[in-house]
Amino acid sequence: MKKIGLLLLIFLALLAINIFATPSLGKSKKQTDTANFKLDVSYKVEEGAKVPEGFADTIKKAQFLLEKVFNSNEFKNALFKQSYNDSAYSKSKKACFLTVYDEKTGRITGETVYQNLLKEKEVKLLINIRNNGDKKGTMGASYACNHQFTTYDYWLQEKGELARRLARHIAHEFTHIRGYRHDNKVPKPFKWGRNIKEDPAYGIGNIVGEILATWGKKSLI
Ligand SMILES: [Zn+2]
Repeated sequence: MKKIGLLLLIFLALLAINIFATPSLGKSKKQTDTANFKLDVSYKVEEGAKVPEGFADTIKKAQFLLEKVFNSNEFKNALFKQSYNDSAYSKSKKACFLTVYDEKTGRITGETVYQNLLKEKEVKLLINIRNNGDKKGTMGASYACNHQFTTYDYWLQEKGELARRLARHIAHEFTHIRGYRHDNKVPKPFKWGRNIKEDPAYGIGNIVGEILATWGKKSLI
């Protein structure tokens, strides 16, 4: 009888540990991850283009880094503090993104950009690596709602932190895919000049770059 009592006590103790352990684990997960976004990036190297050695691994690392940033509290907090100029997507006929903007001011909140970027839980992207000759003004090109985009190969050869630079670049192009354009692509009444702080694609690239730099300094990545 004593044995049964002891076993019952052990069982209850284990149950109690389990009950108390589960919520605390859930809480600690919540502190680091606010979203549940999954990214899958693949690439094709076009004829005449070149990628550095080990590029398949670099892409996987970039994918991991960007997924980690998009899921982080830091990303959400940074973006919720921002507001951007209307990138004239109010005029777009594409329907793969939410068109939320302030009609009076023509501004877009960082919160809306965040919702648009994380609208789908799983995103698959295909990068076409292209040789753009001597042209070095642009790192790549993309179109709204098309999950394929182009990356020019010249900057992939530059040394240092390629996975981080790629994560930032993919974030920039993905912001275009989600409907946000640069100033040179919008009608006159919506132009904001060259101020990159007003530009959602540059803004997202900067936030991703800054978060990765901070994590790098703290040896978290
Ligand atoms: Zn761009």
